[in-house]
Amino acid sequence: MTFNALGLIPELLAALEEKGYSVPTTIQSQAIPLILEGDDLLAGSQTGTGKTAGFTLPLLQNLMKKGSIGSPVLTRALILTPTRELASQVEECVQELSKNLPLKSAVIFGGVNIKSQVKQLRKGVDIIVATPGRLLDLISQKIIDLSHIEILVLDEADRMLDMGFIPDIRRILKLLPKKRQNLLFSATFSNDIKKLANDLLNSPKMIEATRSNSTVEAITQVIHPVDSKRKGELLSHLIKTYNWKQVLVFMRTKHSANRLAIKLANDGITSMAIHGNKSQNARSAALEQFKSGAIRVLVATDIAARGLDIDQLPHVVNYDLPNVPEDYVHRIGRTGRAGNTGEAVSLVCIDEHKLLTDIERLLKRQLSKVVIPNFEPDPNIAAEPIVNGRRMAPKNRNFNSAPRPPSGVSHKSSRSNSSGKDPRQSSDRPKASPHKNNKKRAWPSDKRSFKKS
Ligand code: AMP
Repeated sequence: MTFNALGLIPELLAALEEKGYSVPTTIQSQAIPLILEGDDLLAGSQTGTGKTAGFTLPLLQNLMKKGSIGSPVLTRALILTPTRELASQVEECVQELSKNLPLKSAVIFGGVNIKSQVKQLRKGVDIIVATPGRLLDLISQKIIDLSHIEILVLDEADRMLDMGFIPDIRRILKLLPKKRQNLLFSATFSNDIKKLANDLLNSPKMIEATRSNSTVEAITQVIHPVDSKRKGELLSHLIKTYNWKQVLVFMRTKHSANRLAIKLANDGITSMAIHGNKSQNARSAALEQFKSGAIRVLVATDIAARGLDIDQLPHVVNYDLPNVPEDYVHRIGRTGRAGNTGEAVSLVCIDEHKLLTDIERLLKRQLSKVVIPNFEPDPNIAAEPIVNGRRMAPKNRNFNSAPRPPSGVSHKSSRSNSSGKDPRQSSDRPKASPHKNNKKRAWPSDKRSFKKS
């Protein structure tokens, strides 16, 4: 299959050639003909499948087919994304693919000065790529008029839902003309997404490039069991031993992301952290340095990393497992993109057992576990399971009163709170009970799974 066979106009074919795309990806060959026909579309598509060009190419062609409808330019296409980074990347794709066409686009998101966005919008743009918040802001200031929108794209709709954007989206939908083409892309299909699709789409065509909740096959996935407090050391060891050049590391919290970036720098590994507390400019600068190879490691929280598109990213590391199993699929989707292979490594401590089980249940398979020599987990450490992102004390512990139970009965006796410190801050972990039936004791309930595979 070639792009030519999909019926794209010469201006788009020339732009594709310049971008170096020679063969359409699966989602592109499925979606492009349907969108060109003018159909509404519900597309199940993982990140990294080429979905952006999959909707951008036919969107541009459809706008060209109908011809311009006003002067100054009226906005005719709206692409909504959950994050600023994704909005920038989508608009970059729009710019590159429309370079031979008389269509103008703009990207709109918060966290940066609004003035330059207003200036650009005042000149008139055909296509707006936006995150919902700033878009609504500019609509309320009457800078943006959505009454001529012909095509609406909701990109990564499941992420928008997770991030609480659905009420904003519903407000935006009310401002659009009734007659329009709607395209909804989502990696997963929860009941809420189905409901949104039902309300939004008109007899949609449905396609699914990869099975929902499945991980891209080109990605090698491995779990390295390790004690929580040795994860940083293990990460430095892996990066140095295997000479990893470009590594995206996911962390649960902003503070731990900052701490890890400092630790890696102290170990002689260039790195930067991006997260919600950093300004948009700082995030963009870090991303540019990472893409160009000036820094080796980018440490990111889930929100900051959503939508990052880095060509041929070879390594993704889950320093912490995500709280929501679906996020694992999104995280590792940053590697193994568009036909490239990639490696996703997860450093998993005993507290994350349940999170790992949830991920394996979602993937419907066990992930291979490889213990790195000299980083074997201490079998005497008892689990403090992580629930909703917080490390729980072993069951029945009461940190405030913390009466010391009879010694030798269980792990509860091994960690007193006499220092007055919150034991959750302590690096001393409770030791597991020597009692053979103590379920908290063993991280590897299945020892076989820790053999090198
Ligand atoms: P996306 O899923 O849209 O984020 O795209 C993932 C990556 O695939 C991006 O780096 C694109 O530049 C790249 N890509 C998209 N379509 C193609 C194609 N037909 N050939 C090669 N690379 C592509």
